[in-house]
Amino acid sequence: MRRFFVVGSVWFAACAADPAPTRPARDSAQPVTADPLFEDPAAFDLLPPVGPTGWRARFDEPGQSYLDYLGTVPRRPAPDAEHLYLLPLGEMGTAFVVDAEVTYIVRTPPPEQMADLLTVYFGLPTEVLPQLEVGSVIEPDRIRQGHEQFRAQRLFEATAPLVPDDAYSMTTLMVQDVFFDDAQAWGYGFGQHREGQAVVSFARIDPVVSGLAREPDVLERIPLRAFTLLVHEVGHTFGFEHCTEHRCVMNGMEDLAELDATPLHLCPQCLRKLLYLRPTDPAARYRALSALYGTLDLETPPTVDRRPPSFPRT
Ligand SMILES: [Zn+2]
Ligand SMILES: [Zn+2]
Repeated sequence: MRRFFVVGSVWFAACAADPAPTRPARDSAQPVTADPLFEDPAAFDLLPPVGPTGWRARFDEPGQSYLDYLGTVPRRPAPDAEHLYLLPLGEMGTAFVVDAEVTYIVRTPPPEQMADLLTVYFGLPTEVLPQLEVGSVIEPDRIRQGHEQFRAQRLFEATAPLVPDDAYSMTTLMVQDVFFDDAQAWGYGFGQHREGQAVVSFARIDPVVSGLAREPDVLERIPLRAFTLLVHEVGHTFGFEHCTEHRCVMNGMEDLAELDATPLHLCPQCLRKLLYLRPTDPAARYRALSALYGTLDLETPPTVDRRPPSFPRT
């Protein structure tokens, strides 16, 4: 399902995921009722009603419950294909980008920090691949408003030979623009489940790159913005669709305001999806995440769900 939105007469893209799959018969081995995760939904915040603007105002997405997810027969990590890989395409950290007609600086967390986060967050070993220069892998598809831009699908095709054999998914990290189709001005990222590829573009997490005014605390906001986008797109590689009920890292985001309002945590539905793919003790996962967040030098620590609901110990 393509996800895009329009601002004025210009189309933007926040991200895109796989087309909605046809729904096969549910796996009869999976529970259908009385899931303990839903005994205490008040432990997680619900999304506010749809307002006049924003992602949900533009797209009436159906959401994806846990049972919807099971119906897609998601691809599970296997012992010989359980690694998450990050491919830095271009400089990360502090990148001075000389684009087609503009130059700008993009700041990102170190890829090694991103890998540490994904390892704890998804419970899968995550590694950073050697950085490659963009030009050694792909040429830009177009120049828009002075920015070289890269079509996500073509990027996936170009990087497919670089995906290690033991990968569950590989996420390409970029500081230049990506887009999904010709109508879109730029995208934050894209993720595909079946192909096991995602791309995150950090270019627009600093509003100055879009010609907008910087917030006074922009440098403090950037790490959390980067981590949120990263987890969101990697979540799409697990087959997680956009959430429409709870505040969740899988909420659709159309601009920095919505990105800043998006928590780094998974809602009950998405957490249950992760536990289906990667059975683990959710309380231990929360503790590990909380400890990790304390090491990430974040000005505003992300919210770890206020308290873990009661989970089955599977
Ligand atoms: Zn998305
Ligand atoms: Zn969710």
